[in-house]
Amino acid sequence: MMSKFKQLLIQNYFGRQFPLDYRVYMIFFFESYFISILSATTNTMLKKGILGLVLQWSYIIFCTALIFVLPRIRLAFEKPHLLFITFIYIPFLYFQTAGYDGTALLFAQLGIFMLGIVFSGKTRIIVIFLNVCNYLACIMISYRWPQTVTPHGNPKALVIDLVVGLVLSFTGLIILTAYITKVFSDNSNTLAELSIRDALTGLYNRRFLDDYLQRELDTARETGNKIYVLMLDIDHFKKINDTYGHGFGDHVLLACAQAMQSTLRKCDVVARYGGEEFAIIINPPTFTRIGDVAERIRQNISSLRFRYDVTVTVSIGIAESSPDDTIEEILTRADQYMYKAKQNGRNQVVAGNMTMSLGYQAM
Ligand code: GH3
Ligand code: MG
Ligand code: MG
Repeated sequence: MMSKFKQLLIQNYFGRQFPLDYRVYMIFFFESYFISILSATTNTMLKKGILGLVLQWSYIIFCTALIFVLPRIRLAFEKPHLLFITFIYIPFLYFQTAGYDGTALLFAQLGIFMLGIVFSGKTRIIVIFLNVCNYLACIMISYRWPQTVTPHGNPKALVIDLVVGLVLSFTGLIILTAYITKVFSDNSNTLAELSIRDALTGLYNRRFLDDYLQRELDTARETGNKIYVLMLDIDHFKKINDTYGHGFGDHVLLACAQAMQSTLRKCDVVARYGGEEFAIIINPPTFTRIGDVAERIRQNISSLRFRYDVTVTVSIGIAESSPDDTIEEILTRADQYMYKAKQNGRNQVVAGNMTMSLGYQAM
C-alpha cells in the first residue's frame, strides 16, 4: 500500500514538468492540506464548532483523494478549489473558530495570494476585491451578531491557536514567495546567459565579444596593460561540409570550440565570431607567451581525429592592443594576420609580421 502510494506520488508529481502557476498551486495545495490536518486535529481536541469540524474533516478526506488525481485534472480544478477555499471554507471556519480572535483571517492571506497567481487580468482584480469584501463582511457580521461566532474555550487555547496559526501562515507565504522568486531568478539567469551564447558551440557570441572587448580595451588603456586578440579560422571548412554534410560540419565546429576552451584559462574569452571563425581574447598576466598559447590551440585542434579519419587545421592571427585601439581596429588587425596565415599556406599562427607555426618562432 505504502509503496504504491509512493509510486503514485512520484509518477504524478516528480517525473513531470508543470508550468509555474501550477507548481505554486501544488505547493499551496500541500501547505493548506497540512495546515488543515493540524488545525482539524487541534479543533477536535478542543471540541470546537462541530459544523466546522465536519467541514474540515470532509475537506481533508476530499483532498487526500485528490492527491491521487490532481495532476490529471489540473485545468478543471485549481480555480474552483481556490474559490471554494477563499469564499466558503475559510469564512466558514472563521465563524466556527473564534471569528477575528481566531486564525482564519491569517490563512485568508495565503488564499488571496494564490488567487493573485492563478487568476489573471480583470478576473484577478474582481476575485481579490470580492474576497476582501467577503472577509470585511465576516468581520462586520461577527461584530454585529456575536452569537454567530463559536468562541475559543479559554485564553490559553486562543494563544496557542494564534501562535501556531501565525507561524504556519507566515511560513506558507514565505515558502511560496521564495519558490516563485527562485524560479524567476533561475529563468532570468538562463535567459541572460542564452542571450550572450552561441547556440551550436556554447561559446560566447559576437554581441558579448564586442561588449567585453570594449571593456577590456578601456581597462588596458587605463592600466597600460596589453591584451591580445586571436582570430582563428578553420581551413578548407567548406570542403568538409560539402563532402560529409552540414551535420558533420557542425560536429567539427563543436569539437574545435571545446578544444579551444580546454586549452585556455577560464579568464580567457572565446567567442564564435562567424560561421567557422572564432575570436579569443587573452588578458595578461599570462605565464605562457601568447604565441605559445596560439600554437597549442593550433596543435590541439590538428590532433583531433574525426569520423572517416577526417582531421582539420586552423589558421590563427594574433593582434596586440595599442592604447588608442577601437574594437574594430584590433579585430581587423587580427583578421589580417589570420588572412596572412592562410596566404602562407594555412595551418599556422601569424602574429604581426611574424610567422610562428610550422617553422615556429616565439614572439
Ligand atoms: P579557408 O581555409 O579559406 O577558410 O576555406 P573555408 O572553406 O574554410 O572558407 P569559406 O569561408 O569559403 O567557408 C566557410 C564555410 O563554413 C562556409 C559555410 O558553409 C560553413 N559554415 C558556416 N557556418 C557554419 C555552421 O554553423 N555549420 C556548418 N556545418 N558550416 C558552417
Ligand atoms: Mg575557413
Ligand atoms: Mg571563414
